[in-house]
Amino acid sequence: MLWPFIALTSAAAASYAGYATMAPGSQLYGRTLTHGSDPNQIALTYDDGPNDPHTLRLLDVLAKYEAKATFFLIGKYVRQRPEIARAIQAAGHEIGNHTYSHPNLIFVSASRLRQELEDCRKALEDGLGARTSLFRPPFGGRRPNVLRTARAMGMQPVMWSVTAYDWSAKSPDAIVDKVTRQVDSRRKPQAEIVLLHDGGHLAFGTDRSHTIEATRRVLERYAGKKFVAIAGLTP
Ligand SMILES: [Zn+2]
Repeated sequence: MLWPFIALTSAAAASYAGYATMAPGSQLYGRTLTHGSDPNQIALTYDDGPNDPHTLRLLDVLAKYEAKATFFLIGKYVRQRPEIARAIQAAGHEIGNHTYSHPNLIFVSASRLRQELEDCRKALEDGLGARTSLFRPPFGGRRPNVLRTARAMGMQPVMWSVTAYDWSAKSPDAIVDKVTRQVDSRRKPQAEIVLLHDGGHLAFGTDRSHTIEATRRVLERYAGKKFVAIAGLTP
C-alpha cells in the first residue's frame, strides 16, 4: 500500500531530494524501471499479497483473459500461506520481493534494510524453490542505499507509471477511472506499469474485491493490448 506517500507529499515537496525519495518516476537515485517502450503492452503489478481469498480470485480473472502479471509479495504472508504464492507461480506470473514486513525503507538502518530483503528472499526460496530478480520498495520509498543493496543482491528495482489508488477506492469504477485517465492521456504512448494491490500490508485478508473487478474491466477495455509480466516488457 502507498497511503503514507500521500501524507508525505507536502513535506517531500520541500526538497528535491525528498521528492526523489518517494516519486515513482524519479531517477535521481539511480535508474529504476517505470515503464516499457511498446504501447501495445501493459504490465499489471500487484503488491502486498499473497492474500486470502483475493489472490486466488484475481488469478482466475487473469487466466480468463490469458493475461500475465507481476506480484510483489510480502515475505511474512508468504510464510503464512506459501500455497497461494505457489499458485501465482504455477499460473506463470512473475514474482518479486516486497520485503518481509513492509517497512518504509527510507527510515530503517542499513542492517534492517538488508534483513528485510534477505528474509523475504528466504521466504520466497523456501516457498517457491526459486529466486526472484525483482524488487519493489514498500510505499515506493527508496534511497541510494536501498537501490544499491537490492541490486547487490541481484534484484532490479521496479517502480510504476500508473497509480490506480485502489487502496482507498470506494468502487471498481473509481479504480478503472484512475487507470484509464492515465493510460489514455499519455502524450507519447508507452507500455505502462500499473500499481495495484491484491493484499494489504496492515492485515492479512484485506478486502480487494474492488481491485479484482477493476482488473476485469481493465482487461476488457484494453483487450487489444498484450498484458505481460515485467520480464515480458520490451525495454
Ligand atoms: Zn506494498
